[in-house]
Amino acid sequence: MIEVRRTIIAGNWKINMDHLEGASLAGDIAAGLEGREPACEVVLIPPFTALPAVMNAIEDSPISGGAQNLWYEENGAYTGEISTGMISALGCRYVLVGHSERRHVIGEGSDILSRKLRAALAGGLIPIYCVGETLGERESGTASKVVAEQIGEVLTGLSDADMRSTVIAYEPVWAIGTGKTATPDDAGSMHEIIRVLLGDIFGSRTAEDTPILYGGSVKPGNAAELLAREEIDGALVGGASLEAGSFLGIVFPA
Ligand code: PEP
Repeated sequence: MIEVRRTIIAGNWKINMDHLEGASLAGDIAAGLEGREPACEVVLIPPFTALPAVMNAIEDSPISGGAQNLWYEENGAYTGEISTGMISALGCRYVLVGHSERRHVIGEGSDILSRKLRAALAGGLIPIYCVGETLGERESGTASKVVAEQIGEVLTGLSDADMRSTVIAYEPVWAIGTGKTATPDDAGSMHEIIRVLLGDIFGSRTAEDTPILYGGSVKPGNAAELLAREEIDGALVGGASLEAGSFLGIVFPA
């Protein structure tokens, strides 16, 4: 499954929306796309319990589904976990790996994230691998070093084909859910750094073909200027994806 560089707008609902609310929101977003041609792939990433209802609601639409997390083993004694096979059986295409809340709240590090990313790829899912620095790291001037470690430690060793089936999301931790957005220049320059890092590991062609999304307080009011940057291939959206009007305002930026 080799993917191409494309624009992706993905809504990460986190721990919001039960299955009834999720089906209703997905239905409203699907209805908002009807008869319109979005210039991007639209992805909904609901909580696990809402995934079947959401997949059902988007069945006849161009929207893709994704999961927020996965376990790296296919089955066995891992109480509370969900495998790649279970996620793909619902028709999902994507899975988040390394979201800052998994890194900083749950405590996941490079070792477990490497396993999860490889399990996703082995099971035919496209990982959206999230990287980004904290406010302290940005202020101390180590943002690019931190992001380089997150990229190098987890992606090094992937085959070229696997890298070409992976999406990156740059999400500065200080911009997630805070209302503070990286300026298009700040986001654009970190995207450039990430592409150079990918080029060093996988070669420039693969790096050029990898979609790199931006995430961190993206909303209808700032989406157009972020998405206008040539280095930014789309957005991973949290808060603004919880309401059909605001999410559609990002999918169709003014
Ligand atoms: C996210 O959860 O990935 C995110 C970017 O959240 P928000 O848009 O709310 O900052």
